[in-house]
Amino acid sequence: MRAIEVTKPGELRIVDREPPREPQAGHVVVGIRAMGICGSDIHILHGQNPFATYPRIIGHEAAGEVLAVASDVTAVSPGDRVVVDPVISCGECPACRIGRQNVCSRLQVRGVHTDGMAREQLLLPASCLHVFRKDLPFETAVLCEPFTIAAETLWRGRVTGADTLLLFGAGPIGQVILQGARRLGAKVLVTDVVPERLDLAKCMGASDAFDSSKEGLREWVRSSTDGVGPSVTVDAVGRADIFELAVEMAAPAGRIVVLGFGPEPSRIAERSITARELDILGSRLHNNKFPEALGWIERGEVNPRALVSHTFRMEEVEKAIDLIEHAPRETCKVILTF
Ligand SMILES: [Zn+2]
Ligand SMILES: [Zn+2]
Repeated sequence: MRAIEVTKPGELRIVDREPPREPQAGHVVVGIRAMGICGSDIHILHGQNPFATYPRIIGHEAAGEVLAVASDVTAVSPGDRVVVDPVISCGECPACRIGRQNVCSRLQVRGVHTDGMAREQLLLPASCLHVFRKDLPFETAVLCEPFTIAAETLWRGRVTGADTLLLFGAGPIGQVILQGARRLGAKVLVTDVVPERLDLAKCMGASDAFDSSKEGLREWVRSSTDGVGPSVTVDAVGRADIFELAVEMAAPAGRIVVLGFGPEPSRIAERSITARELDILGSRLHNNKFPEALGWIERGEVNPRALVSHTFRMEEVEKAIDLIEHAPRETCKVILTF
């Protein structure tokens, strides 16, 4: 059975692994059919993910088919199509006890802290699987995990249809946040440095898009928000200077949601937060958002297919990653099939 392993930083290989045996209590054998390549997979390859250890089978965005279930499993059956929740939490720590298992003090993420889904088959607890409609292609359903990131971001930012949302970054994560915010009816302003991504954002309902490699970002934000500033800002780029800019431009009582893991500190004066009573909110992974995100996709309220720019076979993974890294103008979400 083949798997995609980052053996050590900088080295990616297709390796041969034992297929899973009979599932034990509570477990299921899943045949993976599609996997999304995420920026964090590429960070793991380059040794830039602070949480990854090696060797590591990557992959935290996956859709597959149930092949076998333990005798006590009733929630899923062989033949069901499923997406896999990559978040593993302890259920006992203070965060888990208040229902915030995505920031569990013993958090593990499949494909990051522990081996992930980039393999032909694997054994998983039934509790991490969510069944989707049989007529939904695996290559579409696999986008569910990125949409959980959008659902979490919008929940953290308390976004409603009354908001004007300024979004930094129109890559795959920016695009799912844009779609989720448009689903709520919010007005969304998008900035990025890649023209093709700005065009896609406009197609997906952004009311305006700005190339931030050019001068005049502040003026554009001001004039697009009646001089008030955005009620919500999302930094899907994760840079210290963007965080500073977000605080500077926010409307009074504004909310700023940050998703990045950049190590660079920002210089933000307390008074700029206090004077306008700003909320600064971190958003990480998702907190039980799979049912919600899957519902958006199944009901056609979002458009995952518009985000998939390329599909490769799993053995072409290096080619796929090379394309993402070197052709940002041509790529959005890249999917591997198994
Ligand atoms: Zn991801
Ligand atoms: Zn916990």
